[in-house]
Amino acid sequence: MSSERASEEIKSRLDILDVIGGHVRLTRAGREWKGLCPFHTEHTASFYVNPEKQLWNCHGCHEGGDIFHFVELIDHTDFRGALEELAKRAGVDLSQDRPLNPAELRRRKQREALLHLNQLAVDFYHHVLLKSPAGEQGRSFLDARGVTEADRERFKLGYAPLGSTPDNLVRFLGQRQGEAADIAASGLARNERGRLTDFFRQRVVIPIRDEQGRTVGFGGRAIGDGTPKYLNTRTTSLFEKSHVLFGLDLAREAIHKEHRAVVMEGYFDVVGAHRAGVGNAVSTSGTALTEAQVRLLRRFSDEVILCFDGDPAGQHAAGVAVGLVAQAGMNCRLLTIPEGQDPDDLARGDQVRLRKLVEDAPPAWESLVDQALGDASPRSGGQGQEALRRAMRVLGRIPEASIRALYAERVGRRLGVDAARILRDVEQGGKGQAPPARGEGLSKSPGGEIAMGASAHLLGMLWHSPQLIAEVRDRYQVRRDDFLDPQQGDLYEAMAEVAPERLSPADLSPELRVRLEELPRGGFPELDEDAGSARRQRSLGDYVKRIRIETLENQAATLRQRLGELSHHRDGEGPQLAAELDRKQRQIGALRGSGGMEA
Ligand SMILES: [Zn+2]
Repeated sequence: MSSERASEEIKSRLDILDVIGGHVRLTRAGREWKGLCPFHTEHTASFYVNPEKQLWNCHGCHEGGDIFHFVELIDHTDFRGALEELAKRAGVDLSQDRPLNPAELRRRKQREALLHLNQLAVDFYHHVLLKSPAGEQGRSFLDARGVTEADRERFKLGYAPLGSTPDNLVRFLGQRQGEAADIAASGLARNERGRLTDFFRQRVVIPIRDEQGRTVGFGGRAIGDGTPKYLNTRTTSLFEKSHVLFGLDLAREAIHKEHRAVVMEGYFDVVGAHRAGVGNAVSTSGTALTEAQVRLLRRFSDEVILCFDGDPAGQHAAGVAVGLVAQAGMNCRLLTIPEGQDPDDLARGDQVRLRKLVEDAPPAWESLVDQALGDASPRSGGQGQEALRRAMRVLGRIPEASIRALYAERVGRRLGVDAARILRDVEQGGKGQAPPARGEGLSKSPGGEIAMGASAHLLGMLWHSPQLIAEVRDRYQVRRDDFLDPQQGDLYEAMAEVAPERLSPADLSPELRVRLEELPRGGFPELDEDAGSARRQRSLGDYVKRIRIETLENQAATLRQRLGELSHHRDGEGPQLAAELDRKQRQIGALRGSGGMEA
């Protein structure tokens, strides 16, 4: 059957509302259905599905098409991948179909090879943990942590032994027809002077699976005093740690059923939570929650319960994550574990209590506002002012005006201040948000996270294909100062200096080398040979634009802040600041309006 006939056949058997409804919560809007777009961040629905025409489109990011294009985007696959996925679901046989083109074939083959190697590694590590004398250290570590046999099975935990040679796993994979190039590309090995050695040694190994249960990477917990305590697979063509959530394959059913997900901080928190019957728990790989991860969750539910440690680092991470979840238009609650404990302790000790804490978690903004207020009262004087400022910063991050007003009431009642005045101050003071200092705390602000993503992606692309630098420099006039993070700016400059040659990491300062290592090393579909130069160009343009917008917004926030500090906008430098702010805003508007942008 030709792929054209096959796709017609598939379309006739599947309903677009079912296909999309598995990812987006749709509600009826006249003849169409609408929901929150899974491809860009929004909190009012602009994503529409037309069941009569079997088409979808988004008024926000202007993506649209049929079910195949939807699956391409949501699964990050090509047309062929979408066709196969939907054919399976529709029960259509594709065996008579056209052959793949060479680039597709190569990519598919490598992907399959890496998935296969990962699966072999899961089996190897798991076997060592369960059966081998070399797994003893791993077994006693897990025993001490109360990790049961059922847990080891459920999460397919394993152990990477120290071994008498540094290439236990590499040899095991080689014996099973693993190609050296694939083993190197899988992240399971490192290349030490031309010799492949095991990436994980003397660590408990935690397979990280995508939502469909395929192992895409690993986390490794050091035994004893090994450093770093946690080591994750580096970025590979399968694994990008900021895009996956540990435990999602096991949790997705429960998340879907309960309409909510619990996000925890660590792998073992999740293992413990599932043991305690909190089956909708997932975690990041030891990094801050990202926008991509929030979007992933939004495919399955509309509420997130954040479960973070009570220590200052955990509190800070929670505050940032709340903003991201709210920006995505999802409900957010915040469960704070009493200081000195973590969810894993609770899961071991008092399972009923953990479930109850999850059940009773208060709305996130309420927790953050209450934390900011502390025990301040109308009679607290100076401390009360401090508390009010902290609370206003929280209020300024609430995206919905009505919810902001609700919590302004709460603050007003507590401090004996008129809520309307609080709101007015919050809205005038650049939403009360202190602008991040240049290059500092960027990855911690919700907007910043996205920008770091865009600039890192662009730099990653340029590192991958240095011949593109000329275009970015000459056509888009990108300069060092276009990067919000000065070190990324320096890195760009260093790359541009030697382009079209690739920069040698040895020529960089240690700080810049770290920056370089943080860049994504793959996952650039726009660079595929068959992606075409138009797509590549559009993509470069998009990234340049996003980076510029973020820089401008950062500057605008600083101006707003300074204006807010003046007692009156006509005072002193006020008019000049206001004019500058106005200019920045017009530049932002012009960039945003110039089309072709995804977000
Ligand atoms: Zn959209």
